[in-house]
Amino acid sequence: DPRLVRIKESIRTIPDFPKAGILFRDVTTLLLDHKAFKDTIDIFVERYKHMKIDAVVGIEARGFIFGPPIALGIGAKFVPHRKPKKLPGPVVAEEYTLEYGTDRIEMHEGAVQSGERCLVVDDLIATGGTLAAGIRLIERVGAEVVECACLIELSELKGREKLMGKPLFVLVDFE
Ligand code: 5GP
Repeated sequence: DPRLVRIKESIRTIPDFPKAGILFRDVTTLLLDHKAFKDTIDIFVERYKHMKIDAVVGIEARGFIFGPPIALGIGAKFVPHRKPKKLPGPVVAEEYTLEYGTDRIEMHEGAVQSGERCLVVDDLIATGGTLAAGIRLIERVGAEVVECACLIELSELKGREKLMGKPLFVLVDFE
């Protein structure tokens, strides 16, 4: 797909953020390029519009940038997976391990219903821990994860293997 060249070029790389030794892939520069941003959303919408997706689940924070326009484009609802203590209503939660310690994501009870078909969206997959927690949260309420979609995969980290067999679709690979 020729659109992927400009999409990849629009992503900025910042060394030593948020700490020394990390090469941070910054998607905010893609958002500044209207054509690259539009093409990104179009590619996801083209892929998912006929897959009978009921819910697009976006993971905080950058899943909240890409998830909602995809949901609108395919005619699905949008459901946020949030960091702890942000959602005001009753929640279901999943813990996941980080390099140091654990983190947790939460979803409003009833936002996704048993049997619904979900697409999980984030900007980037690294170790896969975040997406795996999102998958577990959806499956806990009896819904189905049809696929995970990310703009960027850091393929060397093999996060894809942590997704319990769920398909992963990405636009750009940074090794
Ligand atoms: P994982 O759980 O797969 O190790 O990490 C993925 C999560 O961390 C995603 O929510 C993603 O937004 C964030 N993340 C980790 N590294 C980067 C990066 O280089 N750039 C961006 N934009 N997000 C990152």
